[in-house]
Amino acid sequence: TELDAAIDRLVRPIADWPEPGVTFRDITPLLADPVAFEAVIDGLVLLAEKAGPVDAVLGVEARGFIFGPSIALRLGVGFVPVRKAGKLPSTSLSTSYDLEYGSATMEMHVDAVVPGARVLVVDDVLATGGTLLAAADLVAQAGASVAGNLVLIELSALGGRERIGAAGCESLRSY
Ligand code: IMP
Repeated sequence: TELDAAIDRLVRPIADWPEPGVTFRDITPLLADPVAFEAVIDGLVLLAEKAGPVDAVLGVEARGFIFGPSIALRLGVGFVPVRKAGKLPSTSLSTSYDLEYGSATMEMHVDAVVPGARVLVVDDVLATGGTLLAAADLVAQAGASVAGNLVLIELSALGGRERIGAAGCESLRSY
C-alpha cells in the first residue's frame, strides 16, 4: 500500500547502532513528514479499533510518547506514560526487563490506570517484546488488563510476537 511505501521510504535503517550488529530503525524522517506522520496515526487508529473499547492508551518512553497521545485523543481516552526509573514524581509501580540491547527498569504511577481498566499499549517498534511485556506487567500490577498492543514497526526475526503470546500485537509494517 501507499502507507507501506511511505514507511519504507521514511524509516531509515542505521547499521551498527547503538552497538555493532544491531540495525536501528530510525523513525525521525517519518516524523518530519507531516503527510506521512498523519497517515501513520490514521493507520494506527484503525488498528487500535481491533482491540475493542479501551479506557486508556499507555505509551512507553521514549518513542511511545510520540505516537500514543495522538491515538489516545482520537479514541477519546486519556494517555498514561510509562517511564524509565526515577522520572515519575508520584508513587509508582516498577518492573525490570531485558531490551534488544541491555536491560532497564520502567515505572508507572500507581493510580495511572484504575483496577479493571482495559488498556491499549503503544510503542514505535516491537523487537524482542521485552518492553511490551514489561508494560503488561505494570498494567497487571495495577489490576488492569492489556486490551491490545500496537506498534508502528515489528522486527519479526526477533520473535517479539511469539514472546508476547495471547495479548497479541498489531503492527503497521513488518521487517
Ligand atoms: P524490545 O523490548 O526488544 O521489543 O525492544 C523494543 C523497544 O526498544 C522499543 O521501546 C523501541 O523503541 C526500542 N527499539 C528496539 N529496536 C529499535 C529500533 O530498531 N528502532 C527504534 N526503536 C527500537
